[in-house]
Amino acid sequence: MRALVLDRPGSFRVADVPDPTPRPTEVVVKVDCCGICGTDLHILAGEFPPAPYPLVPGHEFAGQVVARGADVAPDLPDGTRVAVDPSLFCGWCRRCRAGRGNLCENWGAIGDTVSGAFAEYVAVPAVNAYRLPDHLDGQYGAMAEPLSCAVHGVRRLGPVAGDAAVVVGAGTMGLLILQLLRHAGAGPVAVVDRVASRLDVARALGAAQAVTDASALGGARFDVAVDATGAPEAIETALGLLDRGGRMLVFGVAPAQAAIRVSPFRVYNDELTIVGSMAVLRSFGQAVDLLARGVVDPGPLLAEPLPLSGYGAAVDRVRGGQGIKWHVRP
Ligand SMILES: [Zn+2]
Ligand SMILES: [Zn+2]
Repeated sequence: MRALVLDRPGSFRVADVPDPTPRPTEVVVKVDCCGICGTDLHILAGEFPPAPYPLVPGHEFAGQVVARGADVAPDLPDGTRVAVDPSLFCGWCRRCRAGRGNLCENWGAIGDTVSGAFAEYVAVPAVNAYRLPDHLDGQYGAMAEPLSCAVHGVRRLGPVAGDAAVVVGAGTMGLLILQLLRHAGAGPVAVVDRVASRLDVARALGAAQAVTDASALGGARFDVAVDATGAPEAIETALGLLDRGGRMLVFGVAPAQAAIRVSPFRVYNDELTIVGSMAVLRSFGQAVDLLARGVVDPGPLLAEPLPLSGYGAAVDRVRGGQGIKWHVRP
C-alpha cells in the first residue's frame, strides 16, 4: 500500500509499505479521510517525544472496515464505515485504573506512536472503531477525533450554562469549542483571533463578538476563558479576561518549556480556577453523536481534501494559517 512515511524529523515521502494484517482483536480500516493538526506539525518537527521514527502519522481519520481479526465481535462486518479513536491506553497503570486513561503512564496513539492513517490502510483495535451513520461522510467522520478532544476539554470546565465565555484562537479547536460552549448554554461567547477571515466563520457559528485583539472587547470580563492557541501570550491574555470566580481552560498545546506569568494574588483573591485538558477521554462516541445530530457543524471549517501526495502542501497551509482544517484522502 501507499503510505506517508516520516523517516526522521523534517523528512517525509510517499512510499510503498506492506499492507497491515490485523491482530486477533483488530480491524483493518481502508482510510477515506485523515486530518492534519498541530500535533502532526510537532511530530514532523521532532517536537513530540513519544513519536518513534520512521512513523506513518495520521490520527484523525475515518474509513471502512475491510478485514477483521479472529476475535473481533461480529457487529463490525466488512464494509462498516467507522471513525477511529486513536487512543491506546494500557489499561493497567495507576491512572488507567483510576479512569484517567488519557494520562496513561504508557500512553500511545495510532498515528502518534504506532502506524497511522496517512496511508491506504491502517490496523486498529476493534474497540476503538465507532460506527458512522450513513449521512456522515468520511471528512465529517474524521472530525470526530478533534471534536472528542474538545468535548473532553469543555467537560473539564464543568457546567457553563449562563456563563459569559471567551475563546482565544479560532482555528479548528477554537471553533469546535465555540459550538460546544453555545450548545451547553454558555453565552454570550466572544472569540479572539488575529486572522480576520476566521472571525467571519466564528460569527457564522454564533460568536456574539469576534475580534482580532482582546482590547476590542471593551473591558468585558468572562466567567469562562479558553485558550485554543497554545501561545503563552494568548494564554496570559485569556487569563486577563477572566472575571472574579472565573475558570480558565488551557486547551492549546504550548511548547514544553514555555512559561506564563500568573498573579498568585489574583488566583487567591479572585478564586480563579485553571484546568488543563489532554486529548480524548470517554468522549469519542459523544463526538460522533454530536456530528450525527448536527449539533456541531464542522462544515465551515473544512477545505477540499488533498491526495496523499498533497501532504506537504497541507502542512504548508496549516503552517501558513491558510484555511482552517485540511484533510488528506489517501
Ligand atoms: Zn489532532
Ligand atoms: Zn495506562
